[in-house]
Amino acid sequence: MIRTFIALGANLADPLGQIERAVAALQALPDSRFVACSPLYRSRPMGPADQPDYINGVAHIETRLSPHALLDQTQRIELEQGRVRKAERWGPRTLDLDLLLYGDEQIDDERLTVPHYGMKTRAFVLLPLFDLAPHLVLPCGTALHTLVSACDCSELEPLTGSFATPTP
Ligand code: ATP
Ligand code: MG
Ligand code: MG
Repeated sequence: MIRTFIALGANLADPLGQIERAVAALQALPDSRFVACSPLYRSRPMGPADQPDYINGVAHIETRLSPHALLDQTQRIELEQGRVRKAERWGPRTLDLDLLLYGDEQIDDERLTVPHYGMKTRAFVLLPLFDLAPHLVLPCGTALHTLVSACDCSELEPLTGSFATPTP
């Protein structure tokens, strides 16, 4: 089994419900074991500001799926939850599932860049990942806690309680 971490983000059509459904779908992945979902956070949108806040979290999954088979699965889940790919980069979406880490593998092809290229600077990824795996070291040798200390987490608002907590 390979240890993988998947970032979850949603800002349309009941984002918290989208995250809950995505977690349920990830729990049903073939040849995989769902280990945990991080606490969730509310974040201001990256890119275009005229869109709702995001709900973000990270899932820890152990899998026997190849990285590309795992991406097939996460893209299927995105589509099943109404993801529409638009030309606008970082526009609003019902669900975004990004493959952050796949063991210690470094992958760079036309479909997949792992570790995810944005993960080192995005507070909404680093903080929930740190909640799950505070001692994690990235394949490049950088400790996760170093990245967390260097990033501005001031705009990230923890959602209190479990992820069943209703949106305020
Ligand atoms: P960002 O990647 O900056 O977070 P995004 O998540 O909105 O932006 P998407 O539209 O979800 O981008 O994905 C665009 C493409 O990125 C996908 O078609 C996929 O093939 C590719 N991709 C490359 N690396 C990854 C990865 N690690 N996880 C998910 N998709 C990836
Ligand atoms: Mg993304
Ligand atoms: Mg994505």
